[in-house]
Amino acid sequence: MKRSRSLVGFAVVVSSVVLIGAGVVANRTIGQLSKTGAAVLRAKEIELDYERLLSTLRDAETGQRGYLLTFDEAYLEPYQAALRELEQRMKAVADDAQGGGSMVDDLAALRELVDKRMKVLADTVELKRAEKHLAAIDVVRSGEGKRLMDEIRGLVGKQVHAQQSRVAHLQDVQRKALVTSVRTSLIVSLLAITLVLLLVYIVRRDSRRVRDSENRLAITLRSIGDAVIATDNHGVVTMMNPIAENLTGWANKDAVGKPLDEVFHIVNEDTRVPVESPVTKVLREGGIVGLANHTVLIRRDQAETAIEDSGAPILDDAGNMTGVVLVFRDATQERAAQKALQDADRRKDEFLATLAHELRNPLAPIRQAAGTAAHAAATPEQVRWSLGVIQRQVAHMARLLDDLLDVSRITRGRLEVRKARVPLKTVVDAAVEIAQPAVHSGKHQFTVELPTEQLELDVDSLRLAQVLGNLLTNAAKYTPTGGVIQLKAGRAGEGMAIRVIDNGIGLEATDLPRIFDMFTQVSPSADRPNSGLGIGLALSKALVELHGGSIEAKSAGPGQGSEFIVRLPLAGMPN
Ligand code: ADP
Repeated sequence: MKRSRSLVGFAVVVSSVVLIGAGVVANRTIGQLSKTGAAVLRAKEIELDYERLLSTLRDAETGQRGYLLTFDEAYLEPYQAALRELEQRMKAVADDAQGGGSMVDDLAALRELVDKRMKVLADTVELKRAEKHLAAIDVVRSGEGKRLMDEIRGLVGKQVHAQQSRVAHLQDVQRKALVTSVRTSLIVSLLAITLVLLLVYIVRRDSRRVRDSENRLAITLRSIGDAVIATDNHGVVTMMNPIAENLTGWANKDAVGKPLDEVFHIVNEDTRVPVESPVTKVLREGGIVGLANHTVLIRRDQAETAIEDSGAPILDDAGNMTGVVLVFRDATQERAAQKALQDADRRKDEFLATLAHELRNPLAPIRQAAGTAAHAAATPEQVRWSLGVIQRQVAHMARLLDDLLDVSRITRGRLEVRKARVPLKTVVDAAVEIAQPAVHSGKHQFTVELPTEQLELDVDSLRLAQVLGNLLTNAAKYTPTGGVIQLKAGRAGEGMAIRVIDNGIGLEATDLPRIFDMFTQVSPSADRPNSGLGIGLALSKALVELHGGSIEAKSAGPGQGSEFIVRLPLAGMPN
């Protein structure tokens, strides 16, 4: 661009010099032409004045001869007219001489000759009038008049010739001036054509460069992973990239020329109040602005996308704002992740509160039992009872602390399983033993259905018993007294499925996917006891997955019982 600017500058200087030169030449030529034109006219007039003088003298001669021959006064008329005109003719000639148009010396001689000639004519006319006919003829015959007339003709001819050569010279000058002007206009035309060609070349080259750089910019904008909308300094859209087209639902060609607010419609996620567009803010404040949190973009088809965006002024070289560029992106995933984090945080807080409560609960009976046992008057029966209470409560606390340790291992990715080949029945028996107290206190009817074939598993039997024991304890806990609890195990496809089924309080469909999350408890209600820490199922899920299996919950709804299915790979067929 710089090079083309210096080229244009050079062309401008050269053409200015040439044009000024051509102007001076044209001015001089025009002056010359008009001057020589006037001079030619003047020379022609002078020539005419002499011709007229000669013609007047001829008229006088003609009149005199006619009178001499006819003696008729009427023939004197041209003579009389010539007498009347003569002074005027002589004056014209004299004026020409005084104006420098003809020779002054010749003028005196001419005057003398004309006077003499007129005298000769007047004499002959007077002689004729006096009827001295022969004397008049003698004067004519003397040849004096003819001689005078010849001399006059010679002088007039000299003047006419001088004027004619002057005219020829002037015409030569005119011709040369014309040639110069033709050459000058030719040079100017050539220069103009060269300039036009140069301009066409520069414009084409520069517009190609501008197009190239526009293309590069468009490709860059298209390649940006974020949505980009540019506006002019009135907030009217000038361009949007494909991602912006996608998020706004507007095609670039439809959006260009529209006010941004029409294309980019944003509201607050919670209040639904329209949010001021960052472009308006940039236009007002002049700096870079970020978007308020929780902004939702309403697409042209009314679909909504959580977005994050920012606006920045577009400044020209002089620092003046020529528009605004708005950059935004789909923040749905971040927003969801943020929400999940907040939820997890909230659940953790709830868990801590529950934990404190759960750890505190056994302390009261322990303190009371210890007090009773330590009493001096305590009977052996009371001491035994007290020890039993303390043992049970301590065991409960130990279980809580074990679960807590497991949770911490899961969150740190340190939970390990020690697998060994064990019969299915061994694991189930251990689980039943764990759940026995809960099943017993709920007075439930409990059945176990195992396949007749001896199935073996490659598992950490203690951990798997912990999982099944937890499912059975939950079944006993979330089933009203006297319920029915079943454990059914059998082949399922390539692996095996162990199902724990109860006819208890059941679960809402919306709770099914989240009960396996850490610290999740379904909100307590009239029929739902609020016990436990909300970590049992999360722990079970992690353990099952460590065994390469999966866990699933099913329920037809509240009051319709629940079913928990643990799927595990089989160790192999029994021999
Ligand atoms: P908790 O220690 O609270 O029992 P869990 O992780 O074991 O924690 O269970 C999570 C939630 O799932 C419980 O709070 C309970 O509401 C629900 N739940 C678990 N098992 C059952 C079941 N068999 N029937 C109905 N609800 C259940």
